[in-house]
Amino acid sequence: MQPDEPLPEYQVYALRYATRAARRSEHVVGGDPHDADMPMDYFSWVVTGAGRTFIVDTGFTAAMAAQRARRYLRCPVDSLSMLGIDPRSVEDVVLTHLHYDHVGNFERFPSARFHLQERELQFATGRYMRYPFFAHGFELEEVLGIVRLNFAGRVELHEGQVQLAPGLTLYPAPGHTAGLQIVRVHTRRGWLVLASDSMHFFENMTTDRPFTIGWHLGQMVDAFRMVEQLAASPDHIIPGHDPLVMQLYRAPSSELDGVCVQLDADPARPAPASRHIRRGR
Ligand SMILES: [Zn+2]
Repeated sequence: MQPDEPLPEYQVYALRYATRAARRSEHVVGGDPHDADMPMDYFSWVVTGAGRTFIVDTGFTAAMAAQRARRYLRCPVDSLSMLGIDPRSVEDVVLTHLHYDHVGNFERFPSARFHLQERELQFATGRYMRYPFFAHGFELEEVLGIVRLNFAGRVELHEGQVQLAPGLTLYPAPGHTAGLQIVRVHTRRGWLVLASDSMHFFENMTTDRPFTIGWHLGQMVDAFRMVEQLAASPDHIIPGHDPLVMQLYRAPSSELDGVCVQLDADPARPAPASRHIRRGR
């Protein structure tokens, strides 16, 4: 790509594959005085453009949903065909981190290399896994599966920021886990950030109250600030588990209603704004 060539404008989709009922107090450190229902959704994301397809996180299986008492809506990998994507031919999968709801189904991508921060693999195999608080979000067999893939030469272990393609860059944003990464992608409406679990809900960021499961509280709030800096506006931030995403954005076609929303199109209404955002970039 020549320096003066315009950046590709990627299409970006969120696939909602599971949900669970929960209370507000479960989602912020220190609880919440207005305890009320606050369900959590589960997503995989898809980035396509310039002749390439990137899957961002691979969700979990029906068996895992049963094991962890989540309500499974559909397999995110099976849903890819609705976007014309054959998982067997996908060459790049980004794993934002190795928690069970982001890395299950990895074996359904036999042609892919997996992009992960090396720090995340160290964390998921390191000394803190003896403590249930840190280990609970990981599944041993899945961590072992990624280790096996690495021995097979199929894991790109990144150390820091990396550009996967023009207009598509991964940034470490640790806090929730020690090696979590986020995705910044160029779209027709500007720079979008797939924030994954650097924020589970918009509200974590807008109130500066981290999610209850985390590695480092200070880094979690630092990650909020980083996401704000990298996104073109508050409307360009996509949290990892917020049901609001399905309400703010539209399905790319009527048959995908409730299954998938298109994130490179403007939201139907403004996203919750952050008081920290510097506008005009
Ligand atoms: Zn998650």
